[in-house]
Amino acid sequence: MEGKKFNCETESEKEVPVEALATSRHELGEHNGINMSIEASNTFTFKDSETMNRAFQGEVGPKTGIYIYSRHLNPTVLNLGRQIAAIEGTETGYCTASGMSAISSVLLHLCNSGGHVVAAKTLYGGSHALLTHFLQQKCNITTTFVDIADLEEVENAMIEGKTSVLYFESISNPTLIVADIPELSKIAHAKGVKVVVDNTFTPMILSPAKLGADVVVHSISKYMSGEADIIAGAICGPAEIVDPMRDPHQGPLMVLGPTMNPKLAFEISGRIPHLSMRMKKHCKRAMKFVTKIKELDPNLVVLYPGLEEHPQHSLLKSMSNKDYGFGGVFCVDMKTEERANLLMDKLQNNSKFGFMGVSLGYYETLMTCSSSSTNSMLDDEEKERAGISPGLIRFSVGYVGTFEQKWSQFTKAYSEM
Ligand code: PLP
Repeated sequence: MEGKKFNCETESEKEVPVEALATSRHELGEHNGINMSIEASNTFTFKDSETMNRAFQGEVGPKTGIYIYSRHLNPTVLNLGRQIAAIEGTETGYCTASGMSAISSVLLHLCNSGGHVVAAKTLYGGSHALLTHFLQQKCNITTTFVDIADLEEVENAMIEGKTSVLYFESISNPTLIVADIPELSKIAHAKGVKVVVDNTFTPMILSPAKLGADVVVHSISKYMSGEADIIAGAICGPAEIVDPMRDPHQGPLMVLGPTMNPKLAFEISGRIPHLSMRMKKHCKRAMKFVTKIKELDPNLVVLYPGLEEHPQHSLLKSMSNKDYGFGGVFCVDMKTEERANLLMDKLQNNSKFGFMGVSLGYYETLMTCSSSSTNSMLDDEEKERAGISPGLIRFSVGYVGTFEQKWSQFTKAYSEM
């Protein structure tokens, strides 16, 4: 049994605003509780031995209410996956123990030894390290890094018969380059290449699968959880890709075991319906800060796709869901690591503007000097190629407190520089 649907998806789901989809695959609990139930069992019994054998042959499964073992498939985790898939507009989804395990499982599923990935040169440092070192050294999967905004470079990097994945972030961490998802998908599909998009920076704002991507991955640890208290990930895509990942004989979720705890899936499920409101608040606050910072110091380099001067401002506008802004992350370039550190120290310790921390999507503002933290695994040449300046501070804008209070805290610290 797939669970009792409360607010069933409609035939014209594509037309439904993304915030309505946030509850559209919400499951009622076992006794008609208004929250879904937690299936805490790690193993499941069968009505007879024949059903047990058929389950292992893949002849019966979740559609008929039959589960085997929670390392690769648990009903509560599946429910959360379907809830996130509803937002992303994909056929199905599943959740994992972290964003990195979602990314690595998908790449290992879609690529074989000797295979090739084309990836954006600016990515979250962990993803960059996975592609640069781990996949190459341990699995003989190589990657060509490209400027994701240069469509010709992307196309030329694909090797016929060898490239199986084009991988990029909807908005790159930390340089905030916006990927042209429809055009990139067209290029990749013409060459038989699957498109995998990390949508961690823009849940609700962008729906990459509706724009042409095959698989969407998330670090739930960020905006989706919203409280900086959870490490988790999600994989959304068509059943033909996601279902075999849970194959009880050789699926990556079975053999690698990046398992999400169903109790955690339950907890995250309750946060998805207000993700829409939170994203709107993050976006609005970020836009306001960026506008004021530009007025305060017109010479300061500020990166934010909401600025008209941003090279992909119109592109993001054309792709984004209605009534969302341009994301909750902006960057300022303080030019040197020393000046970046000084500003962050003042912002945290003198004016209490926010916290130094590497994550994002929290209700308070988090700030980090990307070059020496989240992207410190890149060598100097890779950082330069990726456009990560040593003094770049990434701000993940929170929404608590009044704007006036937060702005006075920012200006106090900035005036002391
Ligand atoms: N993708 C992006 C864009 C990230 O920023 C991060 C972490 O910072 C990850 C993936 C990895 O997610 P997790 O920390 O949940 O493994």
